[in-house]
Amino acid sequence: MDRNQQLFDRARRVIPGGVNSPVRAFRAVGGTPRFVQRAEGAYFWDAEGRRHIDYIGSWGPMILGHGHPAVLEAVQRAARDGFSFGAPTEREIELAEAICAAMPNLEMVRLVSSGTEAAMSALRLARGATGRNKLVKFEGCYHGHADALLVKAGSGLATFGHPTSAGVPADVVKDTIVLEYNNAAQLEEAFTQHGHDIAALVIEPIAGNMNFVRAGTAFMKLARDLCTRHGAMLVFDEVMTGFRVGFDGAQAHYAKLIPGFRPDLTVLGKVIGGGMPLAAFGGPRATMEQLAPLGPVYQAGTLSGNPVATACGLATLKEIAKPGFYESLAARTRSLMDGLAGAANAAGVPFTADSEGGMFGFFLLPQLPRNYGEVMKTDGAKFNALFHGLLDRGVYIAPALYEAGFVSAAHSEQDIAETVAAAAEIFKTLA
Ligand SMILES: *Cc1c(COP(=O)(O)O)cnc(C)c1O
Repeated sequence: MDRNQQLFDRARRVIPGGVNSPVRAFRAVGGTPRFVQRAEGAYFWDAEGRRHIDYIGSWGPMILGHGHPAVLEAVQRAARDGFSFGAPTEREIELAEAICAAMPNLEMVRLVSSGTEAAMSALRLARGATGRNKLVKFEGCYHGHADALLVKAGSGLATFGHPTSAGVPADVVKDTIVLEYNNAAQLEEAFTQHGHDIAALVIEPIAGNMNFVRAGTAFMKLARDLCTRHGAMLVFDEVMTGFRVGFDGAQAHYAKLIPGFRPDLTVLGKVIGGGMPLAAFGGPRATMEQLAPLGPVYQAGTLSGNPVATACGLATLKEIAKPGFYESLAARTRSLMDGLAGAANAAGVPFTADSEGGMFGFFLLPQLPRNYGEVMKTDGAKFNALFHGLLDRGVYIAPALYEAGFVSAAHSEQDIAETVAAAAEIFKTLA
């Protein structure tokens, strides 16, 4: 029997669904999850020893590819000095300085261990700092699994949401307003109705949890203006996009399009830990000083600022800060998208794609979707055929059509050519 299947059977006896995060279980695409034995550069090897070109990269963190020598060396050195102290270290300052230097809205950051924790804490801070309760979020955006954020849209315009998970009391999401992404009319109405009660608007500026959907420039400007006018905080969840679409995140992209643009708070994760559990949230000093021990907003963590994780993050940031890093990463990502588009067009399969830096999304649709509803118009059966066809040919993309993809600096033009050739074979069967 296939060793991946053996491990999956064994895992399911002691871990719910056999996995520690649901998407890994392949429920959307069916089949047997690949258990990873080891990884190097652009590849991982599964339990059968089969090599896969890896386009998820731990869902974004592995921007340098797996096992980059400088990062590995930094992690090994840090581990020798101790795994965790529960007392401050110099490396936490260095990482905080490096993160603050990258994004102009960050004067201070607090380091935590996961994106969920960072987003949850940032929103507590926004509520504490404004003295308000209501949150605005968008359908299809994911901000981790904190209770107040596990909400889907209500039935009417700008109504309050319903919990998307059992175990989340309706009371906990009663202050969360869920709107359609890129829908200016809904956004305006929400602020007209509730503006004086809104603590924060939280958004993935380039949404990577509904594949890859950009917030339009006019929409983002409207969000910024409404927050400013009503005294709400604009919270950029850049857990995925931070240091992934560019060194200075998606906010730099919007700052180029909207003069003077800045979010009020920024949430980071994924790349800043280089593959270790590390995340952060930050903003201007006056806001961040509302946090304990200086201010009334409580937030803490036994493993926060972990010395091995900070070493991994710092070594990663050092590499990706090198001149030309993002230009070549973006060019490689575009060449993958162009190659796939060419192959799909030749086969007569509807296809459209977008990318920024080392993050991409493609759709078996004639044009780019603007919101979750449009993303979900993708033909699921065709996507699954593409996914399994690629997997059989040693190419690993996200096992769900609503996830973004990632290219690392370790992916070569040869890897991309192999990927496009594999996809071309499958597209011919999908037309
Ligand atoms: C991954 C992600 C999170 C959650 O981060 P975890 O480390 O998985 O808790 C939050 N927001 C966005 C945009 C993400 O992509």
